[in-house]
Amino acid sequence: MSFPTFDTLKQQIPLLDYLQALDWQPIRRLSRDRLMGLCPLHSDRKPSFLVDPNKSLFYCYSCGLGGDVIRFAELYHQVKFPQALALLRQWRGLPALLDAAAEFYRMHLHRHGEAVAYLHQRGIHSPQLIEHMRIGYAPGGCLRGWLTQLGYPLQAMCQAGLVTAVGYDAYMHRVVFPLEGNLYGRSISPAAPPHRFLPGSKGGLYSWDQVRRYPDVILVEGLFDYAVLWQAGFQNVTCAMGSHLNSHQLRQLCDGPRTVYLAFDADSNGSGQRAAQRLARTLGECGINAHLVSLPDGHDPNSFFVQGGTARQFQAFWEAALR
Ligand SMILES: [Zn+2]
Repeated sequence: MSFPTFDTLKQQIPLLDYLQALDWQPIRRLSRDRLMGLCPLHSDRKPSFLVDPNKSLFYCYSCGLGGDVIRFAELYHQVKFPQALALLRQWRGLPALLDAAAEFYRMHLHRHGEAVAYLHQRGIHSPQLIEHMRIGYAPGGCLRGWLTQLGYPLQAMCQAGLVTAVGYDAYMHRVVFPLEGNLYGRSISPAAPPHRFLPGSKGGLYSWDQVRRYPDVILVEGLFDYAVLWQAGFQNVTCAMGSHLNSHQLRQLCDGPRTVYLAFDADSNGSGQRAAQRLARTLGECGINAHLVSLPDGHDPNSFFVQGGTARQFQAFWEAALR
């Protein structure tokens, strides 16, 4: 292997992107755009890890380790140079592979009446919404062939969880929503487990880049809740894909001054509301105002709209949350 190959890989993977994907956060900004934070390579108490994003280099003043992104991957994952290269290549290739899969699923949505019928039944009608969320459908049995034609190796599909160990499409008869670094698949058949994610993190809050500029943000549990609210004109809605937020999602909600309205499920066992109360307390500790939106008993935002609820009625629940 020649040096230009490493250089290309290094250009394709900025060190800072890789660090941030591992949840590293800068604590201080220094001159010439350099960043300082806790060292991910040893248990660091005061920030001693210096990153130069322009040169894509790091150095730790405490443990004395330093180098480029490949060196970092070697140290962080405790692997040898060739394995570090393989890990980095795999990390960089994943978004392209997931994108190709999402495109394939999108093409299939309107070819399968049962998928469109399912979306209608869940209150999703607007073509703009389907476009905005890039909703697709996994009929099962043909993704692998398509990705093979595009040149993706079977091993990469299996590692991403798109194809099972025995070579079948992992998602079958599922409506598919692309997430940041993952794909959520909702079964349209009652026989299969309803919710599936690919291995790995579910990512950050849904559509956060578009939502974070709003001073008031509505947070919901599920993507079907998100969908009906967005369709009803609430563009300041985001979704955690579940009632428990990961640390990345929590940091996103706390990344600026805002008020968060939690419109979680009003399920009969109260688990959605308890999760919302816990989250409201956590947000309060970060200095974020959080209010609980009470929906009629037994409803989540999706079922509320599916059963004829209107934007004006939802607006009234939202305003009531402030009182
Ligand atoms: Zn260190």
